[in-house]
Amino acid sequence: MRERGFRVTPQRMLILDAICEGEEHTSFDEIYERVQSKAPGINQATLYRTLDFLCELRLVVSAEIDGRTVFEIAGETPHHHLVCRRCGAIQELADYHFLELRTHLLREHGFKADINHLAITGLCSQCTQSGT
Ligand SMILES: [Zn+2]
Ligand SMILES: [Zn+2]
Repeated sequence: MRERGFRVTPQRMLILDAICEGEEHTSFDEIYERVQSKAPGINQATLYRTLDFLCELRLVVSAEIDGRTVFEIAGETPHHHLVCRRCGAIQELADYHFLELRTHLLREHGFKADINHLAITGLCSQCTQSGT
């Protein structure tokens, strides 16, 4: 963050830390709880704004999984997820699968897609095998 010339406020640091504490995906409420335990002065509106800001900087990525928004520290390269709508299993999907799609959208549609943290829902292999 510092390298990119943005101000690292203690508040932003605290929120980044709170996301890092999460295993992988952390919900807004979880982040809020962790932040609250350290800095009770930060309210939900501030947290929303800061998360938005961190997402814009691509330091944090968010995704809609199982109807809730989750946050995670962005890695070097984007990654995506396959989310089973029956058992909730989540698999990681590498970014290279989307390179072609991105290029296509840009070339043919002049559309610069924000494909930085996709959650694709469906049925996992186990649930597919178990039928219905
Ligand atoms: Zn993720
Ligand atoms: Zn499943």
